[in-house]
Amino acid sequence: MKPTNAQPGDLIEVSLVKNSYHGVFLESPKDEHGIILLKLESGYNIGINKKDILDINILRKFAAKTSEERKVKIEQEKPNIAIVMTGGTISSELDSRTGGVSWLTSPEKLFKFYPEVFEKANIVKIEVPFMMGSENMGFKEWQKIARVVSRLLNDSNIKGVIITHGTDTLHYTAAALSFFIRNLNKPVVLTYSQRSGDRASSDASLNLYCAALAAISDMAEIVIVGHASSNDDYCYAFRGSKVRKLHSSRRDAFKPINTGPIAKITKDSFIPLMPYKKRKKNKAELDISFEEKVALIKFYPGQDSDILEYYRKKGYKGIVIEMLGLGHVATGESRKSWVSKIKEIQRKGVFVCASSQTIYGRLDPLVYSAGRELLNSGVVYLEDMLSETALVKLSWVLGHKEWTKNKEKIKEKMLENISGEFSDRLQE
Ligand code: GLU
Repeated sequence: MKPTNAQPGDLIEVSLVKNSYHGVFLESPKDEHGIILLKLESGYNIGINKKDILDINILRKFAAKTSEERKVKIEQEKPNIAIVMTGGTISSELDSRTGGVSWLTSPEKLFKFYPEVFEKANIVKIEVPFMMGSENMGFKEWQKIARVVSRLLNDSNIKGVIITHGTDTLHYTAAALSFFIRNLNKPVVLTYSQRSGDRASSDASLNLYCAALAAISDMAEIVIVGHASSNDDYCYAFRGSKVRKLHSSRRDAFKPINTGPIAKITKDSFIPLMPYKKRKKNKAELDISFEEKVALIKFYPGQDSDILEYYRKKGYKGIVIEMLGLGHVATGESRKSWVSKIKEIQRKGVFVCASSQTIYGRLDPLVYSAGRELLNSGVVYLEDMLSETALVKLSWVLGHKEWTKNKEKIKEKMLENISGEFSDRLQE
């Protein structure tokens, strides 16, 4: 290899005997001096043995971030919004020297990657309750987000709130906020990206732009806003209690379940697609009581019903069983029948609900006798409610001591349409 002036962070072309690679030169790990590490445009890191390199060409020198950051102006004629950052790809940038990821937590950094988000609104506040991958979140984080969001919603200077979040559990957080914030007065818009803003193929800009339009709209809804398709042309807003991540990598990872999108958001318009709650002048209220000991169990053929006993012994107060089809588990003469165990844990005080693994459609326990038996034993069939929403809602309902004294009251609350979690009519 010829000597080179390339520094970590530079965009370089590495020529080998048979081919060449373009990518960002990364700092080599200390114990790998014989290797050049490169981040390719696809996002993959590759290691190239120095011995195999004929030449290195510098295509673009690394520019220190601070010189690139532009100042953010507040423009009087634009509405003010706030952003709550919690982590995930959308809140991160690649450190081109190490290949690691760092967080974007100032308006200036945000402006550098996503100037579009400032086109329609002033970002007057950025709150960072924590930064993490969403797989590490749980009810404590949902409570923290709800506290910050409700404070912002009750700030008369702020028209709406955007939350940036990892995709993996975004729909759980959206569901939690749908119950934790009562008397919602303004839009709360959760958004994401599948590829970070420093990648040419990032989906973050359009998502944030559309999120800003949703945040200044006339809605008072908790929504997830993101790409409507894999094209980079417009977004949809989905109700937070009726949406699910359905793809591991596509830009349009989120789809509404048993309902349609609330609105279509293009570069210049917010187009309502169904009725929604309108913004109002009252104060939003926090209601973040939560019972942590609630589980979501997926039934599969041949599964041992002792799993129910395991949770009961650990002190769990509620279980959502994700059943098959219209609401079935092994029953009748089957050696593996779950019926007696379900009845037993209910007698011992565990509240049992049912959702469906089919994701789409509605439970109907009345079609088969086994379903009727479970229904009579007190299992609450949650119609077309999503399993993730059901888990969060059961935790929220069981967190309210004033309701949990009476099993009928718990059932009534589980079946009350509190945040649009039931659809009246299913879409084909
Ligand atoms: N597991 C990460 C998260 O959900 C993936 C990054 C992303 O989806 O933004 O935060």
